Amino acid sequence: MQARQTKYIFVTGGVLSSLGKGLASASIGALMEARGLRVTFLKLDPYLNVDPGTMNPFQHGEVYVTEDGAETDLDLGHYERFTTSVLGQVNNVTAGRIYDSVLAKERRGDYLGGTVQVIPHVTDAIKERIYEAGQDVDVILVEIGGTVGDIESLPFLEAIRQFRSEVGRQHTCFVHVAPVFFLHTAGEVKTKPVQHSVKELQSVGIAPDIILCRTDRFLSKSIKAKIALFCNVDEDAVITAKDVDSIYEVPQVFHAEGLDEKIAQVLNMWTGRPDLRHWDELARVLRKPEGEITIVMVGKYVDLTESYKSLNEALVHGGVAIKTGVNIEYVDSEKLVDASVLSQADGILVPHGFGSRGVEGKIKAVQYARENKIPYLGICFGMQLAVCEFARNVAGLEGANSREVSSETQHPVIDLLPGQEEIEDKGGSMRLGAYPCVLKEGTRASEAYGEAEISERHRHRYEFNNDYREKLAEAGLVFSGLSPDGKLVEVIEIEDHPFFVASQFHPEFASKPFAPHPLFVAFTKAAKLHHGEGE
Ligand code: GLN
Repeated sequence: MQARQTKYIFVTGGVLSSLGKGLASASIGALMEARGLRVTFLKLDPYLNVDPGTMNPFQHGEVYVTEDGAETDLDLGHYERFTTSVLGQVNNVTAGRIYDSVLAKERRGDYLGGTVQVIPHVTDAIKERIYEAGQDVDVILVEIGGTVGDIESLPFLEAIRQFRSEVGRQHTCFVHVAPVFFLHTAGEVKTKPVQHSVKELQSVGIAPDIILCRTDRFLSKSIKAKIALFCNVDEDAVITAKDVDSIYEVPQVFHAEGLDEKIAQVLNMWTGRPDLRHWDELARVLRKPEGEITIVMVGKYVDLTESYKSLNEALVHGGVAIKTGVNIEYVDSEKLVDASVLSQADGILVPHGFGSRGVEGKIKAVQYARENKIPYLGICFGMQLAVCEFARNVAGLEGANSREVSSETQHPVIDLLPGQEEIEDKGGSMRLGAYPCVLKEGTRASEAYGEAEISERHRHRYEFNNDYREKLAEAGLVFSGLSPDGKLVEVIEIEDHPFFVASQFHPEFASKPFAPHPLFVAFTKAAKLHHGEGE
């Protein structure tokens, strides 16, 4: 049997950031998968952090966690949601990680006698990562973070330039994403920024095969012809990436523009036409939902909702499962003084978080949800703070808190496990990735999942403190999910409430539009019921 020849699609971006390169890559992956191909992804990030785990969400948006416990760029979330690919540590590489490995080799003496340089040592290390991530698939999408022209991106661009000569032109496809603006004062579509960014790309030796134009309108044939002429690509290689209402419409828009067909042509691949029926159905439900619910998220990073990307998507997926639109409102926990502002919520969610800022506001939100019987879902910190609230206001443990928030608390109901205190290198040292959990029969969690043993992804340092297990159970807290050895609390809930469930893990990372996560489905269902009662 002939060895599988991996095809490589490289995605770059020009002019500005936030062009939706990640979504474009995810959508191309979806189309390739719909053509029957095995797909994977690699995100190359030009910054010097070894991984985004040490960055503030305001800097970077969400840190997405993979099954194998890698802390990655949020684009990996798009990739996994749009396809069936299972990603991990090898699928996100930063300049920091590359330099870290090159410098470690240098110290080991692997380059003894040589001068260690960006070219070839750094570029070789980048190419190795691309080969490694692209094993055993038909197509790998390699997205280069940042914008063409950034100093930091240069080694990555040089590496992919060399890559094309190494594996052969017919096995690589360069897709460049750039904006096309409509200038209202002139009443015209402007193509100069695209032309300039392609020039920039050409100056480092890369000639794109396909240009994805981000616009707010479809481009006329003549505009496409102009871009094609000046950017040196085929006319049918100029694709309109028009703004859409829902990100889940992007694959169809690309397909209608002929993108997957063109890529198959560039890569000299013979595949069937894609089957997009499930995407059509999804778009239909999203466009015409039967009713709407409002979920209020009480968190700290509400000014940058990118920080809650996977949560937002998981809520939308939960809504899709019950054909209901989900309107998400954000409330800044630091500003939450009077919790009655939450009275219009059909469901309240306290998400993940770190540090003490805004904690009391979140605890108020938990209390409001519990006392007013509004469906509540707590995620990670949202679970820990639900425990604190219950301990204080139901079990009478005054001042109960997480050790992270107050080191002096009388009742550290959430605490560090032995061993965590001594950790000095903070990067990558939390409980990360998938861990098994056993659900207690007859609880809401087990009802939602419909199975006894599950596995979910984690990213936290603190845990439920078992010294309080008995006391809180007596007061009515249900420990509905535990680690298989019974030592770690994974899910809590309370009875006598329409829906009050909180998990130490992050279910949102495993939710997909075609496989909405059971906890989010159960939560949105409860919210819909609550909504109905309020009418
Ligand atoms: N800050 C908490 C911890 O480290 C919760 C983390 C989170 O919400 N992801 O345990």
